Amino acid sequence: MPQFDYDLFVIGGGSGGVRAGRLAAGMGKRVGVAEEYRFGGTCVIRGCVPKKLMVYASHFSEVFEDAAGFGWQVGKSSFDWKTFIAAKDKEIARLEGLYRKGLDSNNAELVDSRAVLTGPNEIKILDSGKTVTAERILIATGGAPNPLRSLEGHELCISSNEAFHLAEQPSSIVIKGGGYIAVEFACIFAGLGTETTLVYRGDHILRGFDLDLSRNLTEEMGKKGIRVIVQQNLAKVEQQDAGKCVTLDNGEKIVADEVMLAVGRLPNTEGLGLETAGLATDEIGAIRVDEYSRTNLPHILAVGDVTNRVALTPVAIHEAMCLIETEYKGNPTSPDHDLIPTAVFSQPEIGTVGMPEDEACREYSEVDVYLARFRPMKHTLSGRDEKMTMKIVVDADSSRVLGVHILGPDAGEMAQTLGIALKMGATKQDFDRTMAVHPTAAEELVTMYTPTYRVSGGRRVDG
Ligand code: NDP
Repeated sequence: MPQFDYDLFVIGGGSGGVRAGRLAAGMGKRVGVAEEYRFGGTCVIRGCVPKKLMVYASHFSEVFEDAAGFGWQVGKSSFDWKTFIAAKDKEIARLEGLYRKGLDSNNAELVDSRAVLTGPNEIKILDSGKTVTAERILIATGGAPNPLRSLEGHELCISSNEAFHLAEQPSSIVIKGGGYIAVEFACIFAGLGTETTLVYRGDHILRGFDLDLSRNLTEEMGKKGIRVIVQQNLAKVEQQDAGKCVTLDNGEKIVADEVMLAVGRLPNTEGLGLETAGLATDEIGAIRVDEYSRTNLPHILAVGDVTNRVALTPVAIHEAMCLIETEYKGNPTSPDHDLIPTAVFSQPEIGTVGMPEDEACREYSEVDVYLARFRPMKHTLSGRDEKMTMKIVVDADSSRVLGVHILGPDAGEMAQTLGIALKMGATKQDFDRTMAVHPTAAEELVTMYTPTYRVSGGRRVDG
């Protein structure tokens, strides 16, 4: 008779939890995975996937406009929010089914309930009231939008969670924040025809990204009619007859159908029983883990956004796979968080890997910057006034490419392949001796032979 009910019990059926549960169950371990909402987690249910579908939907307005330059007569077009939301929901339900099936076909037990810790090896399933035991427990509960309770009127605002399920398309929206979610949704709503204002507290949106990308994206967003207000916060939000009235710190008032908060996400650890179990957390409630995703308690592990390392789906999946190697295959493997390629699905899109210029200049004494800004070929005929940016940041001493930053169509796709090159330690000479794929925008990456400028000891020297 085994000592525990399960070999592994996973709390949270998102990207990290499902991957760990499925792999462990596939190895013959007795696995339970509890999920209180829908299997698939933030990424599949109310994050990356539905967001990308919305990006596609919103982009059609420009595709129809651009077609005229290529000789197409596109008739009157209109967008129906309800039709799109229904189609999107159908696809999300299909994907959720695949997540469930993946667990089920590997003989993991799906537990459709909230589960909380009641001890180092003990979990309570809230729906049934049953208490179960497990040799190892994995916490993969993810994160949730910061509700910004300090903001007067925050309860009138929506987050990304609600943005996916609004009954009607808002005719106007104010979005607070300047990170991934704020920027992506500003572009989505604007593309769908919603009058959009983005309010960011800092100087440049997308802090942490290369400044040229931030500046150029702000300019492109402006051309699409998005009002980007920087160095401002919301003082309060009030309900009025005409809509929700936002007052900025400078006293300006903006009335909109919806106000969306996109000011970061917080780890989902409230009410999980962490104190009862004695689990250590950090100042924002994230579970503290070591390099092997182990908590301070033996046999309790944590992966994904709940650990507040790098809040990205592929990272959670990678952490889960490393954990399986470490815990069940006798091959201690710590996740590699270095040089993570990433995309922001703004319009135009951002794709980036490695260090932005300012960071490189703080770490390296001589940095060569190769910068190009040009009109993509498609827009020579479409007539659209939209420019693409490409930037390569190189350590002048070793010639190693430290970062590549792209703003333009398919930048995310390019970042994926560039990620491999940078991970392999590619030098600028490697880029130079790579043949161009013609005619593409990406060929610019291997044909910028002369630095645009050098930054030496923190000072720019024009080339
Ligand atoms: P981000 O951390 O990207 O951005 C948060 C934004 O909110 C920042 O601009 C920040 O400003 C601002 N902010 C934070 N607190 C306050 C406050 N109290 N008042 C005013 N502004 C505030 O978070 P998101 O919510 O956009 O996204 C969460 C995470 O989800 C991302 O970090 C990313 O890891 C992931 N994600 C990834 C996507 C992708 O891969 N394409 C898409 C969507 C999300 P400041 O810069 O000044 O700190």
